[in-house]
Amino acid sequence: MNPNGAQAQPVATFSQPAGEKILFSTDKEKSFFNLSPQLITFLKYDLYLRAGNIISSLLYQLRKSPRCQKNHVTVLLYHNVSFDVPLNYPPYMNVTPDNFARQLDALISLNLPFLTAQNFLDFLQGRLTLTNGGVFLTFDDGFRGLVAHALPLLKEKQIPATIFVTTRFLNSEEPFPFFKNLVFSRRVDYPSSWLPLTTDHIKSHPHIVWGGHGASHDRLGRLSLATARQEIRECREMLTRVGIKPPFLFSYPQGIAEHGDWTPTTNQLLAAEGFALAFTSHLGRVKAGASPFALRRMPINSHDTPEILRRKISGAYDWLYWLQKFLHRLGL
Ligand SMILES: [Zn+2]
Repeated sequence: MNPNGAQAQPVATFSQPAGEKILFSTDKEKSFFNLSPQLITFLKYDLYLRAGNIISSLLYQLRKSPRCQKNHVTVLLYHNVSFDVPLNYPPYMNVTPDNFARQLDALISLNLPFLTAQNFLDFLQGRLTLTNGGVFLTFDDGFRGLVAHALPLLKEKQIPATIFVTTRFLNSEEPFPFFKNLVFSRRVDYPSSWLPLTTDHIKSHPHIVWGGHGASHDRLGRLSLATARQEIRECREMLTRVGIKPPFLFSYPQGIAEHGDWTPTTNQLLAAEGFALAFTSHLGRVKAGASPFALRRMPINSHDTPEILRRKISGAYDWLYWLQKFLHRLGL
């Protein structure tokens, strides 16, 4: 009950124009034992980290060739690189600049090829054989912290990367609306490193390949067909208007099929609008010939050590795909 005595109304998590058919039913959404979403998130990531570390360590030691396998690519999923660490979000949302530099050095020491976006497409479509596997770096959302703390290092070390941008908020001096509740460790005002990138940032970093992450960050599979198409089209047109090559890579906002973030229909919409590849938030590596619109990735946390990076790249964390699927099926 709210203070006025009226029955509390369920909070709408997305807007749906009246009368339009949606692509994914949210009937299955439920509150697990009435726990708060924040507590569920905390418990879920604690489970991933603890179980992930113990089991992946065993798998890593049991493997005969602990390095990346032939024709397997680990797509690393980063978000921001900033000294301002959000306290109320999972640890994959930010890597501190010093840890990011250490992680890049650890990746370089593995002596695996860093793929460009075009290399990755060629690998997936069978035109490029990767004898020792490879690594592909991606960043979601388009935070301004990347400009100061990630892009100069990537350029200096000649490591290719793709940044997926939520285009409607480009040039905004306000936080992304879906991240404005972040609580930071160092300060009370909103740090500029968590603001959206600008079109000038995109223009001045030609060594980066820019991809789409939707226009508004809405979950595409929960929108009407017409609205989902408009989201994808607006995102692609905005990036093209900046003056870069039309993007061919996409990353689904939120990225979980069981949550309705993408569906076979959204995949068809992306293909029709000119995208060739789409990355999800499902855990795991990508094998040659994998479905181009359901690509798995491996999130990187700030505290991931060189040892954990090696395990993630060697596939010792791939089993988490099934744990993640199980938890999502439970509605978590
Ligand atoms: Zn996102």
